[in-house]
Amino acid sequence: MIVVLGGGPAGRLAAMHLSHAGKHVLLVERDAIGGTCLNFGCMVVCALNDAARSISGARELYQLGVLDSCPVVKFPALIREMHNVQETIRKVLDSETRATGVEIMYGTDAVLEGKTVRIGDEIINPDSVIAATGSVPAIPEIPGIHKQGIYNPHTLSGMKDLPKRIVILGGGVMAAEFAYIFSSFGSEVHLIARSGLLKLLDPKQLAVARKELKEVFICEHTGVPEILGEDRVTAVMTCGTTNPREEVPCDAVFVATGLRPRSEHLHGIEKGPSGEVLVGPYMETSVKGVYAAGDVTGPPYLTPVARHEGIVAAEHILGRRRNINYRYFPQSVNLANEHAFCNPGGDECVKMGVPGPAGPGTFWKVPFGTTGLARVSIDPSDRSVAGLSASGPGAGIISSYISFLMQKGIIADDFDDFLEIHPETDGVYGLIRYASDYLKEHNQE
Ligand SMILES: Cc1cc2nc3c(=O)[nH]c(=O)nc-3n(C[C@H](O)[C@H](O)[C@H](O)COP(=O)(O)OP(=O)(O)OC[C@H]3O[C@@H](n4cnc5c(N)ncnc54)[C@H](O)[C@@H]3O)c2cc1C
Repeated sequence: MIVVLGGGPAGRLAAMHLSHAGKHVLLVERDAIGGTCLNFGCMVVCALNDAARSISGARELYQLGVLDSCPVVKFPALIREMHNVQETIRKVLDSETRATGVEIMYGTDAVLEGKTVRIGDEIINPDSVIAATGSVPAIPEIPGIHKQGIYNPHTLSGMKDLPKRIVILGGGVMAAEFAYIFSSFGSEVHLIARSGLLKLLDPKQLAVARKELKEVFICEHTGVPEILGEDRVTAVMTCGTTNPREEVPCDAVFVATGLRPRSEHLHGIEKGPSGEVLVGPYMETSVKGVYAAGDVTGPPYLTPVARHEGIVAAEHILGRRRNINYRYFPQSVNLANEHAFCNPGGDECVKMGVPGPAGPGTFWKVPFGTTGLARVSIDPSDRSVAGLSASGPGAGIISSYISFLMQKGIIADDFDDFLEIHPETDGVYGLIRYASDYLKEHNQE
């Protein structure tokens, strides 16, 4: 028997892969299937961002005089309906997983001791184990951080009403996404980042993203020495380079300062300083027959990476070797547009950019100058596509496929025969074509 700890993207995919191959698999999930991704993370951002984009899109049409009113979010209904949809998805995932033959046990923390798994009073000695226990929000140790009115992705569903003024702690993807969501809903949002905002984005793409956060008060390079209020939060004390101590009044705080591996029930295997399980190239841990996959092994904390690592671990158990190429994984930030990127490309690269074209989802953004952007980096030595950034409605899909093609060694000239759908908001292919022509001419001179 193979025991998988955790029914998130890493554990679920690994369990189904093994079961398909004829193995007897027990999946133990302490809480709900789908893990962070479905219950607290990606799908929550989708639910709230879809509503936020509808409202901000309608607001723009109202400003243009095309609509005669602006919709207002009914926050409690939004959270309630989101839960209903999550429950529907959980049922689909549960039956899809069981249909492959995986046995699922809910409601208990599985405890790993070397290669032995303890589930309540039951002790199991499986042939192999995959620990895919994921991550939890990393909560900074700030005095007052546990007051009422302070939320994180795991507790957001306890927010009963839309806050009038909310402070978001953090400067990464999660912080920017929630800042956009709450400001689109009409909250006054203050984002407080210990260092810079969205440091993963290149400066041009960051400028586009900042434009979409124009309603948000952004304080970078600012610490939070204390959170104020009696039982309930009333203000956040900030400490920046220009303003040594300033109170930001608020009725809620959302902590978006990152994630940390959840490995407190994993014993007898080697871990790193943040509790991340240390693994080899096939996700094998320091104990033979015990594997770890996904967020529990540390960053980058992305669902596709977690899924892939689960499959790599499962493949190794099946006696096969599959590698992970961490160089070409696309990432994105969802604001009014999707801001996706893969590799910045080195200084040797030719870098080109254009504003995002008008098309489905961006036509009415033309008057506001927020159609997004497309940027590519081409290595002139072999004309390979070395990096891209895309901001626009379909940026995530475009970036996924282009990064895959980058992994396969695509060169700019390959796009000479590219046939596109029109209208679309993909500025990337045209730019690569232009780069191909430019480099051919440049090389001929
Ligand atoms: C707000 C937010 C937004 C995000 N947005 C994105 C995004 O847009 N794109 C993206 O790619 N990623 C995103 N992520 C990250 C993504 O959710 C994670 O990378 C992904 O869920 C990791 O999958 P996993 O299987 O490794 O872990 P998890 O999804 O955390 O699943 C682990 C599971 O193990 C269970 N478990 C833990 N301990 C035990 C135990 N001892 N016994 C039994 N079960 C246990 C947990 O209950 C959980 O269900 C986001 C995360 C957050 C918080």
